[in-house]
Amino acid sequence: MLEIKNLHARIGEKEILRGVNLVVPDGEIHAIMGPNGAGKSTLSYVLSGRDGYEVTEGEAIYDGQNILDLAPEDRAAAGIFLAFQYPVELPGVGNANFLRTALNAIRRKRGEEELDAVAFLKQARAAVKSLHMKEDFLKRNVNVGFSGGEKKRNEMLQMALLQPGLAILDETDSGLDIDALKIVADGVNALRGPKFSALVITHYQRLLDHIVPDVVHVLSAGRIVRSGPKELALELEAHGYAGLEAA
Ligand code: ADP
Ligand code: MG
Ligand code: MG
Repeated sequence: MLEIKNLHARIGEKEILRGVNLVVPDGEIHAIMGPNGAGKSTLSYVLSGRDGYEVTEGEAIYDGQNILDLAPEDRAAAGIFLAFQYPVELPGVGNANFLRTALNAIRRKRGEEELDAVAFLKQARAAVKSLHMKEDFLKRNVNVGFSGGEKKRNEMLQMALLQPGLAILDETDSGLDIDALKIVADGVNALRGPKFSALVITHYQRLLDHIVPDVVHVLSAGRIVRSGPKELALELEAHGYAGLEAA
């Protein structure tokens, strides 16, 4: 379970998150929507530990640990997948090797045995197949020359291999491309189960046609101002965010 309590964060002098409270139980998928500039991306960056964001108050407890105290790689070892952890282009580095290194780093931290090349490839091929991807993906250099859709696919492949307990996704750019949305939805839906939860931050209601959330939250001016069932997303689509501003 993820429990965010009274989270305040700022960029420079500007307070962006102004007391976010949010609980995501195991097995549930929660969506965060909200007007442009509300702080949605800031929330995902703070949870991922990106530089430049200062947490001034509050905590984010996952499995009994305040993840805000952990280095990004330790957050991954704790079972959290953060979408922009591995977005870089790495010329000369094969995707399979890169994924195996990332996976083994997490396994080491968890005290699990590392996977050798053969064992890894077996898992990777199964994940590639489950995501309806081409196998040559594993041979390409990491993200080099990948289209937007291919980068998304690769991200979902990383997620499938790492088998996180909690995925935090901020779908900022992919909203324009319906194929990319479906790739993300397939990746999340494939992991659905009692031990998996996700926080899907989206600027676009239509992602939620493909990932049906258990709960929808509205973030406005740095606070959750409303939470409700999946139908809330449709209501927001029809009526907008007017009248939902934080006090
Ligand atoms: P959302 O994802 O909901 O559209 P953001 O988290 O991107 O919102 O932005 C929240 C607020 O923080 C906005 O007012 C934005 O202008 C401001 N902001 C975002 N990034 C920076 C930055 N690097 N420096 C200063 N202000 C920023
Ligand atoms: Mg924005
Ligand atoms: Mg954003």
